[in-house]
Amino acid sequence: MDYQQAVEQVRLYLCIITLRGAQVNRLEGLSRLQTMWPNEGIIEREERDPAMSRPALRAILMIAASLFAAAVPGCAAGPQPLPTTFPIPSAQASRTASASATPPADSWTQSRLAMVRDQIQARGVANPLVLRAMEKVPRHAFVPERYREESYRDYPLPIGEGQTISQPYIVALMTELIDPKPGDRVLEIGTGSGYQAAVLAEITEEVYSVEIIETLAHTARARLDALGYGKVHSNVADGYFGWEENAPYDAIVVTAAPDHIPQPLVGQLRDGGRLVIPVGPAGFFQTLWVVEKQGGKITSRSAGAVTFVPLTRR
Ligand code: SAH
Repeated sequence: MDYQQAVEQVRLYLCIITLRGAQVNRLEGLSRLQTMWPNEGIIEREERDPAMSRPALRAILMIAASLFAAAVPGCAAGPQPLPTTFPIPSAQASRTASASATPPADSWTQSRLAMVRDQIQARGVANPLVLRAMEKVPRHAFVPERYREESYRDYPLPIGEGQTISQPYIVALMTELIDPKPGDRVLEIGTGSGYQAAVLAEITEEVYSVEIIETLAHTARARLDALGYGKVHSNVADGYFGWEENAPYDAIVVTAAPDHIPQPLVGQLRDGGRLVIPVGPAGFFQTLWVVEKQGGKITSRSAGAVTFVPLTRR
């Protein structure tokens, strides 16, 4: 591990620890935190988070998170659920931020190719359709301006409304797990920034995406149109119920975590179809499940531990 990798590793752990601190608090009072987190006041949120001011708790969390991250496959690579600022800005980030707010286009492309090679292929994602799609979609156009410099880094980023754009590796992994093919009809639950939908749209013509938060849905819609992904169908609704009118789907990817597998989603899978979904308690690790329907029979297997924002209900 060279110096840069070591710094990134420490930074990732600190990021997880910060999130874990917020999560302890989250478990203590989810509704209180939700009212504290109306939009993107991320720094305020952290400063006002009492769990973060308890040094002993932070130390325990630091050790536990490091051990857990080292022990659980997919954990260190898992998307973090809560928006946060990252407590230790990397030297590179502050350098580039002060040098220029918008690097030239080819530097984005270089960052993107490096992201695919070092974060995605290196972790075993091999489907060429997925790799090409990840190389193509301009992730920096899906994050808020102030996080743009970090858009090709190995972690999730805040997108407003207390939500996050998932870590690049997790987007690639979930896309590979649903095994989309050109011509497939794919449903995504949790449009968020629209990034996962755009990745899917690079692979197949028929992408449907459902988002429960209206403002996010509208921003993502405008962004997808502006970037040439106008063919993605989007809807504002509770994705627990899928999108019945266009069912059945060859594949369904859920990017927020419910505490059980929603029956309507299984019902909207075509025979031979695949559903990839994180399931587990809000604010902690969930299991990523791959559910398949074959001859009316449902099978499921675990693809590791991940951390997602909860699937909320209307
Ligand atoms: N796929 C997104 C990131 C997902 S973050 C991207 O590429 O940017 C999870 C998203 O799921 C959030 O935007 C959240 O608002 C949404 N969500 C949560 N519960 C939902 C539900 N019941 N139905 C639809 N979307 C939901």
